[in-house]
Amino acid sequence: MNSSVLEMTRSALLVDAVVLAAFKGRLRGQLVQPGDDHYDEARQLYNGMIDKHPAFIVRCVDAADVQAAVNFARENDLLLAVRGGGHNGAGLGSCDDGLVVDLSLMKGIHVDSASSTVRVEGGCTWGDVDHATHPFGLAVPTGFLSTTGVGGLTLGGGLGYLTRRYGLTIDNLLAVDMVLADGRFITASADEHEDLFWAVRGGGGNFGVVTSFLFQGRPVSTVYGGPMFWEMEHAAVVMGYWRDLILTGSHDINGWFGFHTVPPVDMFPTEHHLKKTAVVTWCYTGDMARAEQVFAPIRAIAPLAMDFTGPIPLPALQSLFDGLYPPGLQWYWNADFFTELNDEVIDLHIKHAAQLPTVHSTMHLYPINGAAHQIGERDTAWSFRDANFAQVIVGVDPNPANNERMIQWSKRYWSALHPHSAGGAYVNMMMDEGADRVQNAYRGNYNRLTQIKARYDPHNLFRVNQNIKPGTS
Ligand SMILES: Cc1cc2nc3c(=O)[nH]c(=O)nc-3n(C[C@H](O)[C@H](O)[C@H](O)COP(=O)(O)OP(=O)(O)OC[C@H]3O[C@@H](n4cnc5c(N)ncnc54)[C@H](O)[C@@H]3O)c2cc1C
Repeated sequence: MNSSVLEMTRSALLVDAVVLAAFKGRLRGQLVQPGDDHYDEARQLYNGMIDKHPAFIVRCVDAADVQAAVNFARENDLLLAVRGGGHNGAGLGSCDDGLVVDLSLMKGIHVDSASSTVRVEGGCTWGDVDHATHPFGLAVPTGFLSTTGVGGLTLGGGLGYLTRRYGLTIDNLLAVDMVLADGRFITASADEHEDLFWAVRGGGGNFGVVTSFLFQGRPVSTVYGGPMFWEMEHAAVVMGYWRDLILTGSHDINGWFGFHTVPPVDMFPTEHHLKKTAVVTWCYTGDMARAEQVFAPIRAIAPLAMDFTGPIPLPALQSLFDGLYPPGLQWYWNADFFTELNDEVIDLHIKHAAQLPTVHSTMHLYPINGAAHQIGERDTAWSFRDANFAQVIVGVDPNPANNERMIQWSKRYWSALHPHSAGGAYVNMMMDEGADRVQNAYRGNYNRLTQIKARYDPHNLFRVNQNIKPGTS
């Protein structure tokens, strides 16, 4: 047996066989271990750059399984990770050697059309939620891809097409059911465990395993949206116009800005293949009868290379880029918040975007104002309520041989922009960047988070995340 195999099974070897058999007997779900047929499939993460070998993967089917797994990990001193959608850039949905509470079989969703609320189990993706809510003419504000997990995205904040209209995903969260570090099952909401409810709205998976989320659905069905592409020579003008629109425009118009290399696939005319472009992907939720009028000045900003914007069901918009970013690609993330986007910053963007290292690599700026600014920075754990943009630079490619080149590009780009940033980043778009970066992400809310952490998880059982350490007083 070589040393890496020894390493990955060490925890399994230390657990008494009788204790393990008793644990297995308590589960309705599956226990997957190294050597089992489905082990390699079950440990796979969305980011192909991360390769972790847990000793136990517990594929839970209900809250009782989650309680059993949390108790088993704590009693046997195992490192514990929680997997929702497995999308996290830093691979925080898994761990080496320890136990993974895998929620991916917990897919229940219940839409209550009378109250327009949506109960979502912890293993759902946003595509699952869209599938269930769209027939009711409802949507939960979510991210820009349908394959991302509800769990990680929500607990970190949640930015998406509806942010300016209806706020962050956490601003639409009414309650969570959770298993705590001591195995207790509780509900946190505005009326029960209010401190915990405050903390989970941005504080990530630090406080327990959320087995289900209760969201307020919003009346959104067909929107006017999709991407518009411009040649790089127009990028500065487009970016400046987009910035002004996001800072001053009505909350029913949203759109993220990106730099993209046009993929050489049939849906794009061949003359654009492999060209670097400036892209805005729009989502307008206002009066559809006015949409053409609203978009006329946008279409006149500069000559358009390609325009795919029009009426589109929200679930289709939210899954538009799924095919471009299938699971298993190599991803390297660098993020920051920005309050301003002045002309000097725009020039820096254009300089670095001209060097996009691979077809999939990109820079996105997500608007985080509008309704998201109507919540105070102390009202939830998510503190950057004054920032207007969440910036993310990602080196992405199928081939690990390109990793070094795209990582260096991403770091150079981020370093050039960072001095102009608001000083912290969105936790869901960070790699493993150390304690200071986590603290900066929460600014003035960090101390309160450490106190709540001490109350609910004093021994830091839930530490495979952007970790908030338990406070001491
Ligand atoms: C391609 C891509 C697109 C993205 N787009 C967006 C976007 O549009 N908007 C946005 O806001 N973010 C976006 N993200 C970032 C995303 O929010 C994070 O990657 C998030 O961590 C993913 O959640 P997950 O459940 O899939 O991840 P996982 O890897 O399963 O988990 C991530 C973290 O959350 C914790 N966690 C997950 N579920 C639970 C739970 N039920 N209870 C307790 N802890 C839990 C895990 O322990 C881990 O620490 C995107 C990511 C990718 C890869």
